[in-house]
Amino acid sequence: ALPPALLDVNGIEVIYHHVILVLKGVSLQVPEGSVVALLGGNGAGKTTTLRAVSNLLAGERGEVTKGRIELRGERIEKLSPAQLVQRGVVQVMEGRHCFAHLTIEDNLLTGAYARKDGKAAVAETLEKVYAYFPRLKTRRSSQAAYTSGGEQQMCAIGRALMANPKMVLLDEPSMGLAPQIVEEVFQIVQDLNRKERVTFLLAEQNTHIALRYADHGYILENGRVVMDGAAAELRENEDVQEFYLGMG
Ligand code: ATP
Repeated sequence: ALPPALLDVNGIEVIYHHVILVLKGVSLQVPEGSVVALLGGNGAGKTTTLRAVSNLLAGERGEVTKGRIELRGERIEKLSPAQLVQRGVVQVMEGRHCFAHLTIEDNLLTGAYARKDGKAAVAETLEKVYAYFPRLKTRRSSQAAYTSGGEQQMCAIGRALMANPKMVLLDEPSMGLAPQIVEEVFQIVQDLNRKERVTFLLAEQNTHIALRYADHGYILENGRVVMDGAAAELRENEDVQEFYLGMG
């Protein structure tokens, strides 16, 4: 038999405010070491799916009311975000969320708060993050508020990496960034995936770029997966081209 996926989401329903049914039975698998893209338009349910996995729904008055979420076969729906970080699952939220008044370096260091392997190990990870994001090294002493949107997105990803994650949930990394910077961010994601074996589940409205970097894609519409497949197959699919790649 195949080994269980790193992440297995099975038939989840999510309801906000006790009444608003937003996910209507979403299933997806994220194999270890892969990059999986969650695609779909505004309001399709991408962010909600990521929040369900990282257990960030409660703050939004949402809850998983049906289905299962398993990490390496372990049910994780009841785990706190902190417990998930300890198991190597970290979310980078949409809109970046760097601490504006902190320097880039202090922002990065906040990502290591849950680690118990000592200062030297954290310093080593910091150098690794700087190796992947040379821009962040250059800007290490700048207050995040005074850095560019691209640098802030990199800072948010770098901060997640400071937790030494196995899996990063990345919400709309391309949002608000110039095409060249988007490309740079995705290149680094690919490098991290290939060299550090970090697994990525990323939500993207930019189908074009996501399918160039992902191994597999799921397309969400109105709280349901309407199509999924290898990224290369989805790129060739006529419906995907017509509705999501603007080639119709
Ligand atoms: P976007 O790219 O705009 O974030 P999305 O695909 O990530 O889109 P979600 O943010 O998951 O979509 O939203 C899915 C639906 O859930 C939308 O109709 C949205 O209005 C609704 N929704 C999201 N958060 C809440 C909330 N806290 N309370 C009520 N409804 C919500």
